[in-house]
Amino acid sequence: MKSYRKELWFNVPTRRAFINITSQVQECLHESGISEGLILVNAMHITASVFINDDESGLHYDYEVWLEKLAPHEPVSQYRHNVGEDNADAHLKRQVMGREVVVAVTDGQLDFGTWEQIFYGEFDGGRKKRVLVKIIGE
Ligand code: ZN
Repeated sequence: MKSYRKELWFNVPTRRAFINITSQVQECLHESGISEGLILVNAMHITASVFINDDESGLHYDYEVWLEKLAPHEPVSQYRHNVGEDNADAHLKRQVMGREVVVAVTDGQLDFGTWEQIFYGEFDGGRKKRVLVKIIGE
């Protein structure tokens, strides 16, 4: 069995953003030389997500509105976590959008369903953060 590990780095200038990282993950897969197996992609921070969905701007806008309704950033004083920091909403948003995805690797390709793409969800940007890509197989 082969195994591959890489960290992808992001420094998102805005507080929140969704970034399509599918091509970067595909690059990792090609680098790994693995053609049958599993690929894990996870955020290495508790205020960021990795998730799979459609690359459609209307949907991304809807996520932003929905997440702000569920866990509004302001007023920051509404959260007990916000003692000396202001990112409680980012922890909650990350919980809803998830930590990681696992995708099957078949014939050297990401074995996606229709319209599936991999996204990095940033909820507390303005600093360097990492995503782990781990691939196992042969
Ligand atoms: Zn925090």
